[in-house]
Amino acid sequence: MNEILTIAEETLVLHRHPRIKNETLQAWDSADEYLINYFNENQLAKHLNDDGQLLLINDGFGALSCYFQTFNRTVISDSYLSLNSIKLNMQRNNCPEDNILLQDSLQEFPRNVQVVLIKVPKTLSHLEYTLQQLSKVISKETIIVAAGKVNMIHSSTLQLFETYIGSTKTSLAKKKSRLIFSLVDQVDIPEKEIPLTWEIEKQGWKIHNHANVFSRNHLDIGGRFLMDNLPEGDFSKVVDLGCGNGVVGMAASEAYPKAQITFIDESYMAIDSARINMLKNLPEEQTEHARFVVNNGLVGFKAGCYDLILCNPPFHQQQAITDQIAWSMFNDARFCLVEGGELVIVGNRHLDYKDKLERIFGNCELVTENKKFVILRAVKEY
Ligand code: SAM
Repeated sequence: MNEILTIAEETLVLHRHPRIKNETLQAWDSADEYLINYFNENQLAKHLNDDGQLLLINDGFGALSCYFQTFNRTVISDSYLSLNSIKLNMQRNNCPEDNILLQDSLQEFPRNVQVVLIKVPKTLSHLEYTLQQLSKVISKETIIVAAGKVNMIHSSTLQLFETYIGSTKTSLAKKKSRLIFSLVDQVDIPEKEIPLTWEIEKQGWKIHNHANVFSRNHLDIGGRFLMDNLPEGDFSKVVDLGCGNGVVGMAASEAYPKAQITFIDESYMAIDSARINMLKNLPEEQTEHARFVVNNGLVGFKAGCYDLILCNPPFHQQQAITDQIAWSMFNDARFCLVEGGELVIVGNRHLDYKDKLERIFGNCELVTENKKFVILRAVKEY
């Protein structure tokens, strides 16, 4: 795998994080390259004065943060994995640390931005939230350039730039990526509530979903199947691993009212929605023991602490489809379970998680199945 990005007189060594054996994917893409080349060819540095900021939004693994290392910059991302990757790649490339601010997507956007480079996110709702926040801090002089793969830029994408920023056009495609240029001339910005709330009738819960939460428009059917098939038992320390809006952990809190539930996700918006949902929908005796942790799975958690780990595993990292995250989650789950503790997961039938769990735990039972999903249970044996 090529780990060396040579571009516009710079050479950077960039890794994807978390690192995996025999990585086949690069830590940057042609949209990063297009943005860097455009910035240089059009001398955008001239628009950055001493107090001004370069704002980088959704840098995936640090290509942009590292390349623009001589500028004062703020980097905004909803992904813990991305922010961590940016830090590690900056260290790898000896980038100074005193001119960069790393922020999660729910923090207020900085006020003095002069040039903004955006990687178009996967969902329109995440883009809409980003542009809404951005519209509050820009002026007519702010230069805004976005980039994404051609297949991610549709008329609905451009419409959002028109709505929140102003007149928008696109570049020609290069290496399957395209740039978007928006002039700040929109005066009538909609005051739209972007988080969505819907109800789960069975429990009567109102579920809040920030812009970048998994399955934010409706209850995920895999998640629902897991909620309906929780194991019986007297569990005291439970994890909802990859919690999204938190529905699985909330069902566990109802099934085991005395248990401490730990919600973990790598998305800041997911953890904030899970926290809001737990507090709004469940009694205080249950919510006061809940913990909400933004993290890469269970990395860094102590051994032998939990008696039940529930998981509807992710199958993407950014744009790439992967089972590596599920694989790491299952390995770490075994490490963090007490002896006799169990991991219960839901998965698409075709994803062959059974084989993985058997290899890691030495056992795996099919709890139940329907046309689309299986529920599997693996026990940490004595
Ligand atoms: N539990 C929720 C449900 O059933 O609706 C969400 C399940 S969704 C398939 C997987 C979740 O894992 C997403 O919310 C995603 O943000 C999260 N995720 C992805 N990679 C992760 C990682 N390395 N560590 C923690 N969470 C991760």
